[in-house]
Amino acid sequence: MLEFNDSQMKRYSRHLVLQGVGVTGQKKLAEAKVLIIGAGGLGSPVALYLAAAGVGEIGIVDDDVVDLSNLQRQIIHTTQSLGKQKVISAKMQLNALNPEVRINTYNVRICAENITEILKNYDLVCEGSDNFGTKFLINDACVLFNKPLVFGGILRFSGQCMSINPHMSACYACVFDEPPPPDSVPSCANAGVLGSVAGILGSIQATEVLKIIIGTGAPLYDQILSFDASSMNFRKITISKNPSCRVCGDNGIKELKDYSQKSCWEL
Ligand SMILES: [Zn+2]
Repeated sequence: MLEFNDSQMKRYSRHLVLQGVGVTGQKKLAEAKVLIIGAGGLGSPVALYLAAAGVGEIGIVDDDVVDLSNLQRQIIHTTQSLGKQKVISAKMQLNALNPEVRINTYNVRICAENITEILKNYDLVCEGSDNFGTKFLINDACVLFNKPLVFGGILRFSGQCMSINPHMSACYACVFDEPPPPDSVPSCANAGVLGSVAGILGSIQATEVLKIIIGTGAPLYDQILSFDASSMNFRKITISKNPSCRVCGDNGIKELKDYSQKSCWEL
């Protein structure tokens, strides 16, 4: 039975006194294993908040290196980390923040060949990938292997988040069906994004992950939360599970397929 020592009691004291979390919730966090796909604008705040919250084990997948153009919003990386693998740069910051959290790094581009092997070690997935193909692949894998999933996407001044409880709530394919044709939608690289918008959406995703692990509150199942930071309007769109969804429906997928090279897009 897991017991917290004095320094842990102090570190997590604001959780321990919080109704809805408490010692029971904190123990669930300590035992949780979360996979974060993408160590960019969304992955940065997600990883920092999950490590700070005492999530026991965090996996980070990203095949990129830190570039100067990342630092406007990817707050886990610093000027000193330029040119380093993003997963190594992220691990360094997370270890500094909370040395008790176990950090596993995967310096690979997630694909149909490697996702099964990586996913199997984790209870829950949080994704902040930068293209449609990857989002659909992650959705398929989480439905196939029954892992709860928190989606996030940002563009310009706006952000969207939805959570998925496989086979119980609507999946990504219930809503969007298929990836759009390549170059048919704008990306952060060509249309831009306000840096702090990544922080807002990433914090919302981290909150969803914590709620799902602890089992408190109502996650964004069957809902898309969408906000426009220029007006600060937040709204929730209700969605429903499609019984004939090609991924999670009655005749849903039995194996993974690769959607890569479909497009480069941020939700
Ligand atoms: Zn579905």
